[in-house]
Amino acid sequence: MVEEFKAENIVKEFDSGAGLLRVLDNVSVQLNRGENLAVVGPSGSGKSTFLHIAGTLDQPTSGSVELQGENPAGLSEPELAKFRNQKIGFIFQEHHLLPQLTALQNVLIPVVAGGAVTNDVIQRGKSLLESVGLADRMQHWPGMLSGGERQRVAVARALICEPVLLLADEPTGSLDQKNAESIGQLLLQLQDERQAILICVTHSEKLSSLFSQRVVVEEGKFV
Ligand code: ADP
Ligand code: MG
Repeated sequence: MVEEFKAENIVKEFDSGAGLLRVLDNVSVQLNRGENLAVVGPSGSGKSTFLHIAGTLDQPTSGSVELQGENPAGLSEPELAKFRNQKIGFIFQEHHLLPQLTALQNVLIPVVAGGAVTNDVIQRGKSLLESVGLADRMQHWPGMLSGGERQRVAVARALICEPVLLLADEPTGSLDQKNAESIGQLLLQLQDERQAILICVTHSEKLSSLFSQRVVVEEGKFV
């Protein structure tokens, strides 16, 4: 069986000026559709670096990433942008919503980047906002929303292009405990419903315990 997401022997080195810094040291992960993985580990251990490489936002020094049988390393920048837009959804610690756009308009941003906003797409945006519990907040500006609500909009935005791979970097790190828990559960529920692949970096023991797989990063190695 072909794994839908494969990261093989990923090494990442940064030139720190005072020599090469090896941040990821031969890391491999394979996940099928419907699987979820929590990535935990101390600050500075390479978690975000791994997520960036998995999401094609950065390239490994050596090793390869494959998503649905395709290795993005050979793609041109516009092809890569399209690949990322169609296949990968990102959620960060901060919501990165545009303050001058409504919740619904923010959800539709990735579609605008990739092509036309059709009525179908608008319907999909509305139904996503419903599924993250914001049916009555669609025309609100981010400034009128709570922190938890803004992060829910960011979750809906990450899903609008129906990505196979969902990457979340400490998505609950800026939220209070109650909101953190509900966002964590929401992510897992939406991932399961879509049989997507979810990789989530988190500091929360509680959140990581809800994932079916868990890996600890220590000094650039998965242990
Ligand atoms: P984590 O997300 O686990 O806290 P990161 O992946 O952000 O850790 O960073 C791992 C290490 O790599 C840190 O020591 C950081 O300073 C270094 N690092 C990250 N990005 C860069 C970069 N662009 N250039 C140089 N060093 C970097
Ligand atoms: Mg990080």
